[in-house]
Amino acid sequence: MKILVLNCGSSSIKYKLIEIDNESIIASGKIERIGMHDGILSHHPSGKEHIKKVMEILNHGKAIKIMVDTLLDPEHGVIKDKKEITAVGHRVVHGGEKFAKSSLITDEVKADIKDCFDLAPLHNHHNFSGIEAIEKILPGVPHVAVFDTSFHQTMPPHSYIYALPYAEYQKYGVRRYGFHGTSHRYVAQKAAELVKKPLNELKIITCHLGNGCSITAIDKSKSIDTSMGFTPLEGLVMGTRCGDLDPAIVIHLISRAGLPLTEIDAMLNKHSGLDGISGISNDMREIIQEVDNGNKRAQLALDIFTYRLKKYIAAYAGAMGGTDIIVFTAGIGENVPKVREQSCENLEFMGIKIDKNKNEQTIAKQGEISDSSSKVKIFCIPTNEELIIARDTAKIIKEREKPGV
Ligand code: AMP
Repeated sequence: MKILVLNCGSSSIKYKLIEIDNESIIASGKIERIGMHDGILSHHPSGKEHIKKVMEILNHGKAIKIMVDTLLDPEHGVIKDKKEITAVGHRVVHGGEKFAKSSLITDEVKADIKDCFDLAPLHNHHNFSGIEAIEKILPGVPHVAVFDTSFHQTMPPHSYIYALPYAEYQKYGVRRYGFHGTSHRYVAQKAAELVKKPLNELKIITCHLGNGCSITAIDKSKSIDTSMGFTPLEGLVMGTRCGDLDPAIVIHLISRAGLPLTEIDAMLNKHSGLDGISGISNDMREIIQEVDNGNKRAQLALDIFTYRLKKYIAAYAGAMGGTDIIVFTAGIGENVPKVREQSCENLEFMGIKIDKNKNEQTIAKQGEISDSSSKVKIFCIPTNEELIIARDTAKIIKEREKPGV
């Protein structure tokens, strides 16, 4: 069964065609600069030459057509007929309180996704455009929405309610939702496999450290707390986002500095975090390079990043009454030993101890990085959100095909 996985952003679409029977990737690719005259298609068919083309890609509909045509291309394609695509799995960022699980996309589900536009103004309508565009090109093919927020719907009210007047939650849905759910779910499952224990007997802390960063406390298979909140701005320090902040700073910036809301929004989301502190870059590779050159602001950015992360690790261990496993994943979590080392430093009193050699050697691959004396197992696990989307999609399609369902 071939499942096409789509992740539609504002100006880019990432895709993967997965053979779910053996979980192999048949082709993957990316379409960037949608809306521009110099759009870029990068296509990686398995066992064939990778290609990159620059062309005009004016909207999501055109981009999706180019993607499907490329999958069917006699030279670079991997399928002979559109009918070989059994189903499409879509990453949808926000499912609000409606979606605690992945869902087959129906007209009702589409209306519910639209209802969440206000909650995720930067994401949901692009995800939605992708759904509508490919429905036209692959008529009759079932579609499944896999939400970034749904894994966190198990959080108890004391985790997700802000200490604001309760009416803000009732009237406007102002609460913590959390994001990166598919990634946290994937690496937690993988960690349970690695220690050969059922997920529902483990306390796991998963650290997704990419350009966006979040950390989740997973107690007996359920997310009980996560650092991103009403939006992905809360929590850890990120590439360009500030994470946790005294909300009075926003009031100060409006009333004293006279900044307009759009400027404050851009400051908090696009010019803060590693980039804002260092004045160098949002990319951890460049921060580390400058740390090695003795740059003090780069060092400060790294120290703030890892200190915040360490506080969250300790807090989440506290929230669960301990932890059995810590996982590092995503671009920074998988590739930067210094971040893993600094964020676990001085946590030996909690049974958390990294093996420095193993840590240095574990880059862009799966591996255990804890010391043999560490009570808590520490792993680096490359994330695979697309596989979770493909698995959920296949599961829903198979259930739908069962007689009597
Ligand atoms: P992601 O959002 O998971 O793609 O992660 C993107 C971030 O991961 C980048 O902004 C970099 O800071 C970091 N990153 C990715 N690859 C590396 C690497 N090889 N070494 C250090 N940092 C990396």
